[in-house]
Amino acid sequence: MSPSGFSGGAGAPAPAPPSRITAYVASIAGLGITSIALVFFASLTSQTLTQIPVWTTVFLAAAAIAGEVKPVRLLREDGEERTLSTSAPFVLALVPVAGVAIAVAAQLVASLADDVLHRREVRKSLFNSAQYALSVIAARAVYAWLAGVPFFGGSTVVTADDLLPLFAAGIAMIGVNWVLVAGVVRLSTGNTLATVLREDIRDLALTNVVLLSVGGIAAVVASDGTALLLLLAAPVVAAHLFTMAAARHAHDATHDSLTGLRNRGQLYYELDRALEAPAAYPSLGPGLVLLDLDHFKDFNDTLGHPVGDEILRQVGTRLVEVAPESASVHRLGGDEFAVVVHGPVSEARRVAADLLSALDAPIRIDGLELLVRASAGVAVAPVHGEDGETLMKNADIALYHAKLERDRISTFSPEFDINTVERLRLLADLRTALDAKQLYLVYQPQVAIATGGMVGVEALIRWRHPERGLVRADEFIPLAENSGLIFPLTAFVLDESLAQVARWRRLGHEFRIAVNLSARHLSDQGLPQQVATALARHRVPASSLVLEVTETAILSDPARADLVLRALRRLGVSIAIDDYGTGNASLSYLKRLEIDELKIDRSFVSNIGADHHDLIIVRSTIALALALDLRVVAEGIEDAATVDELRGLGSVIGQGYHLGMPVPAAEIDALLATEPSPADAGTTERP
Ligand code: C2E
Ligand code: MG
Ligand code: MG
Repeated sequence: MSPSGFSGGAGAPAPAPPSRITAYVASIAGLGITSIALVFFASLTSQTLTQIPVWTTVFLAAAAIAGEVKPVRLLREDGEERTLSTSAPFVLALVPVAGVAIAVAAQLVASLADDVLHRREVRKSLFNSAQYALSVIAARAVYAWLAGVPFFGGSTVVTADDLLPLFAAGIAMIGVNWVLVAGVVRLSTGNTLATVLREDIRDLALTNVVLLSVGGIAAVVASDGTALLLLLAAPVVAAHLFTMAAARHAHDATHDSLTGLRNRGQLYYELDRALEAPAAYPSLGPGLVLLDLDHFKDFNDTLGHPVGDEILRQVGTRLVEVAPESASVHRLGGDEFAVVVHGPVSEARRVAADLLSALDAPIRIDGLELLVRASAGVAVAPVHGEDGETLMKNADIALYHAKLERDRISTFSPEFDINTVERLRLLADLRTALDAKQLYLVYQPQVAIATGGMVGVEALIRWRHPERGLVRADEFIPLAENSGLIFPLTAFVLDESLAQVARWRRLGHEFRIAVNLSARHLSDQGLPQQVATALARHRVPASSLVLEVTETAILSDPARADLVLRALRRLGVSIAIDDYGTGNASLSYLKRLEIDELKIDRSFVSNIGADHHDLIIVRSTIALALALDLRVVAEGIEDAATVDELRGLGSVIGQGYHLGMPVPAAEIDALLATEPSPADAGTTERP
């Protein structure tokens, strides 16, 4: 009959002492059972049961039972499903039509049937029966009083005049039910009674007005026989269909369509609701566990999106299976999941561990066995944040930390380095940047100081980040180097720049292109072959390619670097030492190593006009390099004075903002168009 029974499980935590809940349940059960006994005894002895209309009563009772065991499904705005039984109007109609005993009996059969169907514990079933019976008895009392009929009286014919008393009786019935059930909820959540009632009234007031009206109609038409009552089936069925459709829509708006889990919006709702609970138990959360699948992108890329989707679905199912009953599981999009846990930090960590171990067994899809791992970040209120936003941010930081430390689970700590987290976030973005075509190359001219002709360009990578805008190479190259992402990145740069050189060559411009290598490439024995293949693919002669490496890169593993560099040089590619002077290399290795070019670092070059020491260093370095038959590039030329100084120091190539900014290929095209003669700037001769 009622909008809410004691079905247990769902909803908020149970922080009240169990003894108090037991005492409450026991006293309601005792009161209920005593009242039931009294009502039955009194009704039997007053012989009112013989006067009731049999078929009408059977119909109303059957409708009440059907309405209880086959309730309407409703979805609340927090995404939780609630069921609304439609037995109330029929039980209410029974109150005047069949008398209090029959109404109570019908209600008892209905609620017991429902309890059996849902295998509710005896304790809960007892409480339900008791509080329902008390509600019906209250309804009869109100009706008897207002309509002026005896409490234990038999059947009365209900006319339009009795509708108001009946309505009041209905309100009493639902009201008593609400208050009694809210009592349990109050004890088990720690919320005030007012809060609990307010939440329910908001949801169910309107539906109950409709139900009570149906009850009124049922009672009035009951006096005209069962035929008219049958007509009532139509609006009840319509209500079923209508609420089902509404529930479906509400479900779509609050759930993720792929996994069926609640969505991000619901996560904030859930957190806010849990945070509103009184601070009587400050260490009890809510806790937020964020989960992110490791290398999910690889699954998607190699096995296709349908498999990726199926992985997400199966992961969702497993998370729901192991999450505690009171927790809510959400998918935030992509491969990120979140679980709201009710309990202290220890509980949130335990749940996080359970969630991760739920993924230990391989996921089976189309005969494939896939091992999907995840990392988890934990943040718990109020220590790690007192609002949803902060909890989310800190759980996210903890999650990144878990990934960084390869810890699998990490609980937020204020010491976590936000910078590290930021960098990791950037790294995650960099993974997608390559595919998403956010990376591109710019080219900085290299100019022969003596002639002013362009003899080469250096390819420099740029990242146009969708949210951050332009990210500097210095910011993300180290990330790529540490993560291994540098390999696909360099493959991209090589390919792109050789394609560009091939284009320039077709236009009749023959100059070198310099590509930067990282330390890790120097221990990659496959690099020479990779370079050879790329050159062949674009039909660019090896002599057009310069590979730049730093002293430090070579010194990190000189023996291996030597092997790789030799193999590259055998191809005909030239090797340049980049940022020369900033590392700790001794002069002897300049001679021993097979290199072709020295790029003097800008920290020495840009100041030679003003700093005599720098001038001496640059001058002697140039002399030394030229004596060793190396090409010399002076980096970081920022003004004309520097060019003038360099002019007197020998046959040097210059690179710097003063001679040309790093620009897109099209601007190099424009520059070339104004050059006196492309042939003069050829690469066959060293400047
Ligand atoms: P680098 O190889 O020494 O490149 C020269 C850097 O100096 C470039 O910075 C360039 O824009 C900047 N520069 C050029 N002329 C001047 C000047 O007159 N004054 C000043 N102050 N700076 C000048 P960018 O493009 O930010 O690159 C920084 C570093 O990132 C590069 O240093 C290189 O080590 C690395 N890098 C850039 N692109 C790539 C790449 O495709 N692969 C790899 N592995 N590393 C790259
Ligand atoms: Mg360079
Ligand atoms: Mg440099």
